[in-house]
Amino acid sequence: MSAGQLERLQTPLQRLRLFKSRERLEALLQEATAKEFTYADFLDQVLTEEVQAKTAKHITMRTHLARFPFVKGLEAFDFSYQPSLDKKQLQTLASCHFIEHGENVVILGPPGVGKTHLAVGLGLKAIEQGYRVLFTTAAALIQALTRALAEGRFEEKLKVYTMPRLLIIDEIGYLPIDRAGANLFFQLISRRYERGPMILTSNQSFGSWGEVFGDRVIATAILDRVLHHAITLNIRGQSYRLKEKLKAGLVRPAEATE
Ligand code: ADP
Ligand code: MG
Repeated sequence: MSAGQLERLQTPLQRLRLFKSRERLEALLQEATAKEFTYADFLDQVLTEEVQAKTAKHITMRTHLARFPFVKGLEAFDFSYQPSLDKKQLQTLASCHFIEHGENVVILGPPGVGKTHLAVGLGLKAIEQGYRVLFTTAAALIQALTRALAEGRFEEKLKVYTMPRLLIIDEIGYLPIDRAGANLFFQLISRRYERGPMILTSNQSFGSWGEVFGDRVIATAILDRVLHHAITLNIRGQSYRLKEKLKAGLVRPAEATE
């Protein structure tokens, strides 16, 4: 192939935004000649590389947009340390059927047992499967909604949290929520109810959500909607953060569970 022809091919590839093909064209043509590829083999190779590159780019972009506090997959989760968790159940969740069925996942457990890690891990699986995901903490969510309400942009802000296919609300119960905040939280929950699946995490059992939201009636209304279609994971193990300390004998197991 002449240099002129190669250059001519670059233009349509650029216009079609087939950047990987553009970058790899010369090398792929050489490889095809050397290995005597058929036309179909060659096309297969070009398209496969382009799709792979685009998929990787989308995943990177969506992972960035999801605003995870850290990026750790389920693969990095040590299930042997958390026997109260059913690994099979998490593998099923990782297939993301719960998203298609509009189900929520609620992860309960004391601090350090991996609630955020599991929520992020499932969020990453959802992204791999092409869903849009947004991660927030309950405190950040309520703060954002409160500010938006004061600035007359409540509806607009609500959309930010209703548009992503999967919304992760982490750390329900770490900070007390006042009645106004609980009301805004409830509005979001009702908006997503039966439409958009969520992953919620909390260090408080459902029975304590009345205190978390400072209002038993609102808490019941929230739980009613959240739990209508939900899978609850109860983690009853020890804090992973204390694992190393326990190993080193710096903390006694009794202290670690407290
Ligand atoms: P939680 O949200 O329940 O307080 P995190 O998910 O933030 O806990 O976990 C605390 C730290 O320990 C994180 O860095 C997390 O990746 C790690 N971690 C927790 N549990 C496990 C586990 N079973 N296997 C591997 N890492 C874990
Ligand atoms: Mg956490």
